[in-house]
Amino acid sequence: MKKILACILCLLMLSSLLSCAGSKETATNTNKKEPASSPSVETPDENAGTSSESKGTSTPTPTPTPVDPLEKKKNNTATKTEDDLDVIHVGLYEFALADGRKLAYTADGKLTLVSAETSENTEFLVSFQNAGTDKTGRAGVRYILYCGDSVSKSVYCLNNSLSVKDSTDNNMSYNWNIEEHEDGTVSLRNVSNKRYIIVDSDKPEGSMAPDATAQKDFKMNLISEGTSCFHQTISEKGNVILRINDKVKVRGDMSYERQAKLANDLQIAYETYYELTDYLVWDSIIARVYRSEPYFGYIYPNWNVISFDLTSAIQDLGKAVLRDDLGINDWNFCLLHEMGHMFDAYRGWKFHAEFCTNMKVAYVLYKNSDVDARAATSGYSYKDCFDGAHIKDMWNKIPVMTSSTGFNLDRLLYIFVSYAETIGWDNVKKAYHEIQHLPTQETDKYKCFELFTNTMAKYAPNNLNVKDTMKEGELDIVLAGI
Ligand SMILES: [Zn+2]
Repeated sequence: MKKILACILCLLMLSSLLSCAGSKETATNTNKKEPASSPSVETPDENAGTSSESKGTSTPTPTPTPVDPLEKKKNNTATKTEDDLDVIHVGLYEFALADGRKLAYTADGKLTLVSAETSENTEFLVSFQNAGTDKTGRAGVRYILYCGDSVSKSVYCLNNSLSVKDSTDNNMSYNWNIEEHEDGTVSLRNVSNKRYIIVDSDKPEGSMAPDATAQKDFKMNLISEGTSCFHQTISEKGNVILRINDKVKVRGDMSYERQAKLANDLQIAYETYYELTDYLVWDSIIARVYRSEPYFGYIYPNWNVISFDLTSAIQDLGKAVLRDDLGINDWNFCLLHEMGHMFDAYRGWKFHAEFCTNMKVAYVLYKNSDVDARAATSGYSYKDCFDGAHIKDMWNKIPVMTSSTGFNLDRLLYIFVSYAETIGWDNVKKAYHEIQHLPTQETDKYKCFELFTNTMAKYAPNNLNVKDTMKEGELDIVLAGI
């Protein structure tokens, strides 16, 4: 499947590049600061974040059909390895030239070469970032070179200038191609993949040069495999890479086995999103759950990484473990929600980012009801988690939008998911596919709204339009609110 997807990706990348970036979404968790450089960060806000906790008390209770979680685990824990993906193992490495001198980073953010005897600041955590085609349309494998066994600083290259910077990780300038040669050496290329190579230099910060021949190659010496920063599992089919800090294992009681199951669940979600939309941005998606983040969860539209705040994840993924004991198959709403954003990037149906991803989360749960896939926003207790037949109940908070309630995202989701059930999700899927294959993707949100609703109506029995299922006055409030 990966190869097929990669081919499709090549075609999609170019069109995506031409589109404008997604609009900045409002973070409802206002006490958290914005990322340092976030032109278009999308946040889960009230639908995956902490603000929904205040709403958690009025939880409708779904009717569970318990399955044996242990039986499921047995069938779902096989995962790929880095060898299967043909990528360099996550681990600490040193980069040494033929004369023994080693690459090192300095406290003031420089890269330099030090003598063979030096071991201080010479270790880099190498972690692959994209195992296939990336957003730029260039095939290959990208890596991040973190400084030491920490994920706080990385090797950064911009305009041929090398430095060490805080790992905000939303920038391709952190990405590296590590080209392996037959003699066992490697070259480091920057993301543009030109012949820019780290070379010996009198300049203390190191340098980049095109097609340099002298001392271009490093021996890459493994110091230790793995990292204390996260435990990595790769889904069975290899499209989802899940990296979770051990605090989730210890405090949240999430075993590595359970983590592997989650990676495979997210793999199925990944395939379901693709099936629904016929659109795929990334050949591999990484979920990083190992840092303190400025939001509960978020993505950047031009990056294949889901960021999940570690402290929040300890509690949220911990609930998944508690749910196992009740036979509740929790796929984690936050991760589903963030992944869903990736399947809306630059699409002609995207009139409201948070609505559009949650609409698709509902489909993922509906489609995978055979394994009783469930999810619930973070405000719900571990006893409450919604399957595809009940997820709309989670959003059934108010009976109608009025001038006093104003725009209400939950109500909008309830309206649309109810409508999808009425006309059949397969007809909704036809609408997604039709829009996906239009020659150009609409970007005006009002036109997207019209396109999405009218295209669904085209396939609906009796051409029922979702707008006609809204109560009096709601449509105007929706249009004013999106
Ligand atoms: Zn979101």
